[in-house]
Amino acid sequence: MKLFDLSGRVAIVTGGNGGIGLGMARGLAGAGAAVLVAGRNKAKNDGAVAELTSAGAKAAGHVVDVTDPAQCRAMVEAAASKFGRVDILVNNAGMNIRKQPQQYTPEEWHKVMDTNLTSAFLCSQAAYAEMKKGGRGKIINIGSMMSIFGHSFVVAYAASKGGMVQMTKALASAWAADNIQVNAVLPGWIDTDLTKRARQDIAGLHDRVLARTPAGRWGVPDDHAGIAVFLASAASDFITGTAIPVDGGYSAQG
Ligand code: NDP
Repeated sequence: MKLFDLSGRVAIVTGGNGGIGLGMARGLAGAGAAVLVAGRNKAKNDGAVAELTSAGAKAAGHVVDVTDPAQCRAMVEAAASKFGRVDILVNNAGMNIRKQPQQYTPEEWHKVMDTNLTSAFLCSQAAYAEMKKGGRGKIINIGSMMSIFGHSFVVAYAASKGGMVQMTKALASAWAADNIQVNAVLPGWIDTDLTKRARQDIAGLHDRVLARTPAGRWGVPDDHAGIAVFLASAASDFITGTAIPVDGGYSAQG
């Protein structure tokens, strides 16, 4: 039994054109999956696809804004028409607006919630029929340390990422009978475009993360390749509804 083999499987990775999403896409492609790299920026999509295909994988790009339900459905249709089926969905697209709660506008709140949480629901809902038809499915939702902890400048982000964990449990309960497993990954502090901006905006953040992380380093996108393969493969067939930190021990240390 090849526990971690993804040959013949088809994955969609939202935000797969950079950062954590690309780290996961590399893992899935390396294990044999065909990958649809889905993001708004076509040039970034093309760059990620070129990297994956030059390493011998099957990959294609798809331009999508995951806040739009019709575009989420079109993304799933594109994966199914290009590669014949959809087995794996990584709901990774995300963003943050860092400011104190009293400064948030309703539009900013909705933008963060729509991009991080509602999108994951819409994409999962769009993928469900294809997964059911194929007899199996794996959905991987990207949470955060802010799924567990709070902070003064992350009110909408923390709400969205906390919601991601609870939505994961609800979808896992609903779709286990269809052989669809739904799990969340909670990254620690990872060096990406998102956190480069945070490090510029928040004085002392870089060193505070280093001091707080038992592994003694920031994470890198490729730290998420292994968990993606595990949660997408037969190795995790009896695991559903969980939230697994990938954080160098950040959330374990008191
Ligand atoms: P990046 O900014 O590098 O990646 C974000 C990705 O999301 C990009 O590929 C972007 O592509 C895509 N994206 C954003 N909005 C949309 C949209 N409306 N429609 C489609 N795609 C969209 O950041 P990270 O890699 O750090 O973040 C990835 C995920 O990991 C996010 O959910 C984030 O919250 C989470 N996370 C990150 C942590 C970190 O320390 N870096 C820690 C915990 C969680 P494009 O611009 O082309 O649309």
